[in-house]
Amino acid sequence: MVCVWIFSKMSYLCAELNKSDTRRQANMNTKYIFVTGGVVSSLGKGIISASIGKLLQARGYKVTIQKFDPYINIDPGTLNPYEHGECYVTEDGMETDLDLGHYERFTGICTTRNNSITTGRIYKAVIDRERRGDYLGKTIQVVPHITDEIKRRMLREDAFDFVITEVGGTIGDIESAPFMEAIRQLRWQLGRDAVCVHLTYVPYLKAADELKTKPTQHSVKELQGMGIQPDILVLRTERHLDDALRLKVAGFCNVDLECVVQSEDMPSIYEVPVNMQKQGLDAAILRKIGIPVGETPAMKPWRDFLEKQRNAKREVHIALVGKYDLQDAYKSIRESLNLAGIYNDVKAKIHFINSEEVTKENVASRLEGMAGAVICPGFGQRGIEGKIIAAEYTRTQNIPTFGICLGMQMMVIEFARNVLGYKDANSSEMDEKTLHNVIDMMEEQKSITQMGGTMRLGAYECELKEGSKAAEAYRPTPFPSLYGGEKKALPLEGERGEGLLIKERHRHRYEFNNKYQEEYEKAGMKCVGTNPDTNLVEIVEVPSLKWYIGTQFHPEYSSTVLHPHPLFMSFIRACSEYSE
Ligand code: GLN
Repeated sequence: MVCVWIFSKMSYLCAELNKSDTRRQANMNTKYIFVTGGVVSSLGKGIISASIGKLLQARGYKVTIQKFDPYINIDPGTLNPYEHGECYVTEDGMETDLDLGHYERFTGICTTRNNSITTGRIYKAVIDRERRGDYLGKTIQVVPHITDEIKRRMLREDAFDFVITEVGGTIGDIESAPFMEAIRQLRWQLGRDAVCVHLTYVPYLKAADELKTKPTQHSVKELQGMGIQPDILVLRTERHLDDALRLKVAGFCNVDLECVVQSEDMPSIYEVPVNMQKQGLDAAILRKIGIPVGETPAMKPWRDFLEKQRNAKREVHIALVGKYDLQDAYKSIRESLNLAGIYNDVKAKIHFINSEEVTKENVASRLEGMAGAVICPGFGQRGIEGKIIAAEYTRTQNIPTFGICLGMQMMVIEFARNVLGYKDANSSEMDEKTLHNVIDMMEEQKSITQMGGTMRLGAYECELKEGSKAAEAYRPTPFPSLYGGEKKALPLEGERGEGLLIKERHRHRYEFNNKYQEEYEKAGMKCVGTNPDTNLVEIVEVPSLKWYIGTQFHPEYSSTVLHPHPLFMSFIRACSEYSE
């Protein structure tokens, strides 16, 4: 009897200690929101997480959104875009999941390497510690060692009002189990300071003319089976769900009716935050946590943007010349074009042109009717000749052209082959032995043998030449809308030396070969942006043309809803004028 009593007291004390330990690890006032998904993938968990972030930010809270991906790769940097879509790059040089792009575009808040975690990173940290001997002879197990490492990262050391954690994959996946266990523990240890949002799917069966809630019920049961009771359900649906159906879901899943919200298909993902606000998703979260709800923020800049989006009707056709025939592969470029279109009062209609299929014979017909072309980033030989042919065509036809990273390199190679007369000009990435390596491997890359995370990654400075088209684009005056709305560290960082100084994100191993700079300049392609420390060429342009600019960096990563990127703004404006 006494033994049982002592044992139960001890367990109680342990659990309480565990709780206060977690509370101490967590920041005292930070609240935690966990977003999981059920039934199927691709429901838009990233958009819902970004929308929650946006809505809380609009209420004045300091928010961060992070993504935990259950796959074993350390980061998606080594993944083929067909596997995983675009690889997004943070300012501090982490190759991450494309959902971080949504987080940044919605909130305008920069993410960091702490916002993108994978199973690989979790295990690596634990195994490195084990090899160092830090565990003092203990057996290392999924619970508690892996789950503790997940929890540590979910809690974050930096101070936020809200930490939103999205877990990739779908409930029931074998590999997401440790993440669910970590959430279960945190939920228990943090009490009201943690809220679980579960996103599921309500399919419409045409033959029965009915919306079906059973998959949602099953998904919630699965979650409950892991010890997690969702506080809020977001139901993805193609058709409107009436109150009776929401009530049914609420009843079956132990969730309050006001906490069952629906996310109907919207004409644009940017409509989602206001739709969620209308249904009180943010208010429901605050109520669950026990924070006074207060007034509903007007979100004027966001609504103004949506108004602009609804009114932007005139289509401007833009060719996206790339090799990945997959919506998500060039996600940030597509969104940057869309956003810049809206702020220019036009609808950027994007046409994917598979560069592998572009030939000298068909380039004119492939690009017919296009008001501009983006030559896409990429790696390796496949599809590059088509990019070079497209760059030649748009240069000689004076069609606005924007080359990004590999796209810029292809513009440079094309110019060497067809203007400078070096028929064999190439990048040493494609042809190591070429005599005219106008694009060459960066010096610091030559000794690198490992592939993962070893490129030139993240934000670096670039100084713009006065009077260039690029500098003109970055000058704030033509883009008053850039400065409305929320604060965001714009690429404009102040002035140093002669020209305007900007900061942009990179992901490459090869660069413009400075040996050829003079020849290029003489022949009319100017190097108008360079890194002030290394002299590396970051921007080339042909000033005699309407808009022909290539950037070694990726401007698409820093374009946000309230601050479209100046280069995309200027490019779309040129395309719009061209199409008129
Ligand atoms: N493959 C090129 C390089 O590594 C370009 C990379 C890119 O387009 N992101 O330099």
